[in-house]
Amino acid sequence: MRTTILSILLIVSIAAVGGSEAKPRCGRGLPACSNNRCCSADGYCGAGVNFCRLGCQTEFGRCRKPPRVPDAPPPVETPPPSNQRPERPRGGGPAKIIYSCTVPGTVAITFDDGPAKRTPELLDVLARYPDVRVTFFVNGNNYVNAALPEYQAIIARAFNSGHQIASHTFQHKDLATLSDTDIQDQMISNDDVIYSATGRVPRYMRPPYGSTDADSLAALGALGYVVTNWGVDTRDWADNDAEKSADEFEKALAKGPSNTFIALAHDTVESTAADLMDLVIPLIRQSNLRMVTIAECLGDSHPYL
Ligand SMILES: [Zn+2]
Repeated sequence: MRTTILSILLIVSIAAVGGSEAKPRCGRGLPACSNNRCCSADGYCGAGVNFCRLGCQTEFGRCRKPPRVPDAPPPVETPPPSNQRPERPRGGGPAKIIYSCTVPGTVAITFDDGPAKRTPELLDVLARYPDVRVTFFVNGNNYVNAALPEYQAIIARAFNSGHQIASHTFQHKDLATLSDTDIQDQMISNDDVIYSATGRVPRYMRPPYGSTDADSLAALGALGYVVTNWGVDTRDWADNDAEKSADEFEKALAKGPSNTFIALAHDTVESTAADLMDLVIPLIRQSNLRMVTIAECLGDSHPYL
């Protein structure tokens, strides 16, 4: 009896993951999947490993690896102007929070909370789209200790691939709850981690949880940071479902080509690292928008000090 109940539960949970009734059907005699979805072995359209890997039907939708699109490689970052680490400015006015891009025709996709174990998988996916640049808001000590050589190498790889490295603070604490001194410690410690991996000191930061108050904005402004939140939340942190996250992009793109937005995602989330970019990059390209770093989407050629 217990085995029967367990089996039923297992079947129900597999159905929920792999082919719920809400998913459109695909396959022989049925339409192909739209919106770059995969057609699973059992004939359901969707995203993620359950649809795109084992038995995926290439004739009715996308499968795991889309063809490489030949595009110009991103410009190679120039090395720092000298061996001297640039001084972080002190004494600027309060920072303003930026929520969207300003350069027409651009979108900034941003990934918070890494580096993490899944970041290399995301970098592998992004390497298939050489025209796409994104921004990583990294933590020095959140999911991993980013000072360890393997994680320094991941930050360096992202930087050398033309992506922007920005700060998400050292330990992902809510800055609105910290003193000025603690905020400085969080920021300067994270500068150290980024500088040791890239040889550059970031100008851009994102407060953990998007949380600030007047005091923390004053402290960040005094240190010369550009504070960047987001306008589109993929909600990958809540759902871990690339298809749902892609729906958030579709909603944003439906607002028209003049809508240039900053999107929030996380390289710590499995479905984001594995599947999200293969879903959304074709959608964004169809809208004739370019995917650039957050500094580029603001028309700023100085992402670093
Ligand atoms: Zn975060």
